[in-house]
Amino acid sequence: MPDTTIAPPTNRHDGTPGALVLPSVDGDLPYERVIPADRWLGCLLAGAVGDALGAPVEFLSLAEIRTRFGADGLTDYTPAYGGRGRITDDTQMTLFTAEAMIRGHVGKRLMFFEQQPGSVLQHAYQRWYHTQGTPWHRAGGSYAMEAEPDGWLVRVPELHHRRAPGATVLTALKGFADGAERGLLSRRINNSKGCGAVMRAAPCALWSEDPLDCFVVAAQAGALTHGHPTGFLSAGALAFVVHRLLDGADLPTALAEVRAELVTWEESEETVAALDAAVDLAERGRPTPEQLESLGGGWIGEEALAIGVCAALVADDLADGLRLAVNHSGDSDSTGAICGNLLGAVHGLPAVPPGWLAELELREVMERLGRDALVEFSPANPLEDPTWRERYPAW
Ligand SMILES: [Mg+2]
Repeated sequence: MPDTTIAPPTNRHDGTPGALVLPSVDGDLPYERVIPADRWLGCLLAGAVGDALGAPVEFLSLAEIRTRFGADGLTDYTPAYGGRGRITDDTQMTLFTAEAMIRGHVGKRLMFFEQQPGSVLQHAYQRWYHTQGTPWHRAGGSYAMEAEPDGWLVRVPELHHRRAPGATVLTALKGFADGAERGLLSRRINNSKGCGAVMRAAPCALWSEDPLDCFVVAAQAGALTHGHPTGFLSAGALAFVVHRLLDGADLPTALAEVRAELVTWEESEETVAALDAAVDLAERGRPTPEQLESLGGGWIGEEALAIGVCAALVADDLADGLRLAVNHSGDSDSTGAICGNLLGAVHGLPAVPPGWLAELELREVMERLGRDALVEFSPANPLEDPTWRERYPAW
């Protein structure tokens, strides 16, 4: 059997060389951390705005973008998927990640379910898979015990649209639905490092008061669909950074901290190198789109993270960062979403242009889910409220 261990022998959390020993993600109950509402909602909604901004140019080269929109490229929403401000699979899956954080925490809090929410995340992604057109009895796998999926999010009709979902994700979720085992850091289901894991990872920053717990949870969430370390470590890195930003750290500090963590993980070289390249490019001043493309196309995890990070580092303001993040030949909606997650967590919801928020598809759904997450992840959570458990079943 190949050695698929991921925790390194030098990891401060692991004194057992060669063994798969993950840091504990127990967190503390009750959850004492107070997450600033404006930063968290900014993270969630600015990510969606960046996704919507980039959606029309996801599959256009830089030359095609300039031909269509002028020398400055795309600077405002333009119609895609039938309208302005339409989100894509990036935001759809981010919402299901956020819902899984709430549901996983309800289970942990009330029923002492598993401390690591991997199963709850898998269940959430199977519900998203159902929204892509597969009947629940065929999409839910072992979770499809009832005729219909539970929770309120999956019943939002506007989520039931295909917005260029990633093939890796669809294949992995179909595999689980058909009976394959859940992907783990120690049980890699494929060798993909597509950006489908990092693009949905930001809400994992809620899970714990310790950013390392959030890193691990996001990496595990990534490993459900992406088996290459760069695929799931880039997801872990984003959640760690967002956690630190929510708690008030500045972006360069958060990046330095996550780098220090990343280097203790096996097979993290690509992710570390991509983050280093992003920081180096940003330190040379504002990059041109051509220079930004030196970081890659963003189709794979570490490149999407790097482009989002670089744009966030050099941005004059949130809107400027999002425009920079989407004008390149690569995966513009994912890089826009990641940049939005970062800048939204730094600057908060008031920094998102009101016009973009007003036209954002599913804004009310995002705000409702985002505010519910703040309730669940607060010292004053709703405890035994039965209606809460109906909205957020604990599995
Ligand atoms: Mg997309």
